[in-house]
Amino acid sequence: MVEENIGNVKNIKYVYSFKEGDKSMKEILGGKGANLSEMTAIGMPVPGGFTISTRACAEFYEKGKKLSDEIRNQISENLEELQNDMGKRLGDRNDPLLVSVRSGAAVSMPGMMDTVLNLGLNDETVEGLAVKTGNKRFAYDSYRRFIQMFGDVVMGVKHELFEKVLQRIKDEKGVKVDTDLNVEDLRMLIDSYKQVIQSSTGKMFPSDVREQLDMAVKAVFSSWNNDRAIIYRRMNNIHGLVGTAVNIQSMVFGNMGDDSGTGVCFTRNPSTGENKFYGEFLMNAQGEDVVAGIRTPEVIEKLGEIMPENYKQLVDIREKLEAHYKDMQDIEFTIQQGKLYILQTRNGKRTAQAGVRIAVDKVNEGLITKEQALLEVEPDALDQLLHKQIDSKAVGQVLTRGLPASPGAAVGKMVFSAEEAKREAENGESVILVRIETSPEDIEGMDAAQGILTARGGMTSHAAVVARGMGKCCVAGCSELSIDEANKVIQVNGNIIRQGEVITLNGSTGEVFVGALDLIEPELSGDFGELMRWADEARKLKIRTNADTPKDALAAIKFGAEGIGLCRTEHMFFDGERIKAVREMILSSDKEGREKALAKILPMQRGDFKELFQVMDGKPVTIRFLDPPLHEFLPKEDNEIVNLANEMNVSTESIKKKIDELHEFNPMLGHRGCRLAITYPEIAEMQSRAVFEAAAEIIKEGKSITPEVMIPLVGNSNEFENQKKIVDVVAEKVKQEQMVNFDYMVGTMIEVPRAAVTADKIAEQAEFFSFGTNDLTQMGCGFSRDDSGSFLKEYVKLGIYKRDPFQSLDQEGVGELMKIAIDKGRSVKPNLKLGICGEHGGDPELIYFCHKAGLDYVSCSPFRVPIARLAAAQIAIKEKKVEEARVREEMVKKMIGGIREKFGESVSVDDLERELGKGGF
Ligand code: ADP
Ligand code: MG
Ligand code: MG
Repeated sequence: MVEENIGNVKNIKYVYSFKEGDKSMKEILGGKGANLSEMTAIGMPVPGGFTISTRACAEFYEKGKKLSDEIRNQISENLEELQNDMGKRLGDRNDPLLVSVRSGAAVSMPGMMDTVLNLGLNDETVEGLAVKTGNKRFAYDSYRRFIQMFGDVVMGVKHELFEKVLQRIKDEKGVKVDTDLNVEDLRMLIDSYKQVIQSSTGKMFPSDVREQLDMAVKAVFSSWNNDRAIIYRRMNNIHGLVGTAVNIQSMVFGNMGDDSGTGVCFTRNPSTGENKFYGEFLMNAQGEDVVAGIRTPEVIEKLGEIMPENYKQLVDIREKLEAHYKDMQDIEFTIQQGKLYILQTRNGKRTAQAGVRIAVDKVNEGLITKEQALLEVEPDALDQLLHKQIDSKAVGQVLTRGLPASPGAAVGKMVFSAEEAKREAENGESVILVRIETSPEDIEGMDAAQGILTARGGMTSHAAVVARGMGKCCVAGCSELSIDEANKVIQVNGNIIRQGEVITLNGSTGEVFVGALDLIEPELSGDFGELMRWADEARKLKIRTNADTPKDALAAIKFGAEGIGLCRTEHMFFDGERIKAVREMILSSDKEGREKALAKILPMQRGDFKELFQVMDGKPVTIRFLDPPLHEFLPKEDNEIVNLANEMNVSTESIKKKIDELHEFNPMLGHRGCRLAITYPEIAEMQSRAVFEAAAEIIKEGKSITPEVMIPLVGNSNEFENQKKIVDVVAEKVKQEQMVNFDYMVGTMIEVPRAAVTADKIAEQAEFFSFGTNDLTQMGCGFSRDDSGSFLKEYVKLGIYKRDPFQSLDQEGVGELMKIAIDKGRSVKPNLKLGICGEHGGDPELIYFCHKAGLDYVSCSPFRVPIARLAAAQIAIKEKKVEEARVREEMVKKMIGGIREKFGESVSVDDLERELGKGGF
């Protein structure tokens, strides 16, 4: 914060001219404001203006949604300067200054907050504008747009009410499009709009221009807390911002005739990443027209034909801005009567595919380093690249084609409203949201849908931008499509398709198909593969995968997994024949019966392990012994019980009795994990045998494997000791029987808080720890994962937990338990191998945490392996940078010490600089 002391009054600076700020001031000026300043500084044609800071927004809320006199005064001072610069005054009846009032927070939230254009018009200034521009129609059209926007954004009048009036007048005049309305019609429209405002708010549309300005500023500040902005921040995990800034900028007009226009462009393709100028524009239109998706715009190259001079200028600006920001820019421009203005630039939002390609290209172009490239790609965004694509062998009937607005593929039932999308998705349906165009109110429905299809709007329309941000497949601007939202039916090329019928979207080509097409798994090739190789060079953490089947393991290896961190053996027990044998084992009344049942399972399990070892080809595999709650195995249906009784040759009654005995009230804390294998040691014996016999076979085939046996749910070192003994005994037996030697390790999950705090004892025997963060969270926080849904959402809303602790590890609490276990464990065994498994494993935040905590590896689900590789690289690079900075600082300190010795304490700045310069600083 810039604070100046003027006399005794501490004077906070709330308002900054575009001539004062720069791009580093996002926190205070918001992204839009900071970049408008930066562009002004580097000589871009930016219309003049000033920014009211986010600090002012915070104060506005502190003061009960009021603008203090100090803020209003600073606005006045800056307005005065702007008026002098422009040679026009706000409210001047001969030559009025008009301004836009634009929102812009530190983090870009496209379309979430509000903007008012053409502010400064009233019944008098509109006349001045008409005379000055010699274009009466333009003046009155601007005025009615302003009243409408002001009424909507500032005074809270429903948009539809204005639309209704507009339609009525169009009907009366027998015209089809707005542009056919003449000055008289527009005057009538303006009067009606004012009446609409008055009748629905009880207040007059304000003709005082300064009042207009203050009201608009307050409205923009208020829009910081409108529903869609709040939802957007929640969905994107944006925390800790104090508010939005407001930019007051002198208006330029893209709707002043055929030598005017407006557009949005990207310095590279935001969908594919191709290094090719990319954008859209509309001639004779004002800003909102392009983004709102109301008219489908032209591609940017076309501007080269219509206005070659301006196009050349724009291309030039594209190059300058990219070189300056060293990143792909998203630029808003307007041409007013042949003169080009830039209204906004920001680092462009991009699909993951584009993000990866742009990062890799920029390294190859020498614009950034590999390390910078790795830091630039959001690990979670890679998730998009791991989405399914339409199988190239799949044939389908192409219904129609739109713009390929956001890549990937989606199959789902058509729904026509956001509410419907949400409802159906909650019922587990895959849906495709079909809209004429989307608006910010649709955002939750878009989130719930698999894909989005719109009839109107271009590549920069709301639907397209938001879908790309969400990594959701989107086909936009399908102009052949006629959508009847009321009757929930679409018509296209003679086909009629109704709500609930299935369609398939290809967001990479823009094709829409009838019915469901086959989708295939994605691959890691090209730029993505390259980036991943760089990540592997940079990272220190190993990345393993959680895989229970050879198929999952293979998929994970393709994504770069370096081993299996968690193979849950219970998943091998659940199908057909096996579950029967397991039930027999549990329900047997004696050891003999149990051993008989286990003998049936042994060969199957050995086969599973062997296959897994083969696929992993020497890479480490951690096998966790059986760990589901007992009740998951018990038969529930009467006929199952009868069949089982017959097979076991006992009475149905006795089986039922046994089931009742085994019934648990809180199975998650019940007879599971090592508790099961301690009471039924035969289980551990059988599993050990299956693992080691499989290993022996692999070794005999001349390959290598070092199985890691993991004991689940240990809370007390005695439990571990009990199980380890069994494993060791069986291992020795198998070695002798098979006459081969093999290495193996026995370790444990750390998932019971008691194990964490007694980890030193456990580490005396255990060769590795793997943190089971799901159970550690359940037991550490005392939340049952299955039942916490009813309050956890509320907890997150209230900020009690910042994020759901089952999605994002609770570092403060559960993380602390981990740290205790790490310290205690390594105090006994400095080289104790440490890893983590569980659903949290692929979360970048947790990977950063694990790196810092000194873990050896992270294990996550196959599809998160690339994300984990990148996140692990990022934290290693960041740490290296911090370390380099520290070393540099130390060296400078040392040198300064040396210089002091040479020149004495009174060393001059010149001496200092000269001597430091010699050291290469
Ligand atoms: P958003 O954050 O939703 O993009 P903006 O503040 O950028 O909102 O403004 C919305 C639209 O109005 C954009 O198309 C922008 O280019 C246009 N616009 C904003 N200020 C001006 C101005 N001073 N002159 C002309 N058009 C403007
Ligand atoms: Mg806006
Ligand atoms: Mg904008």
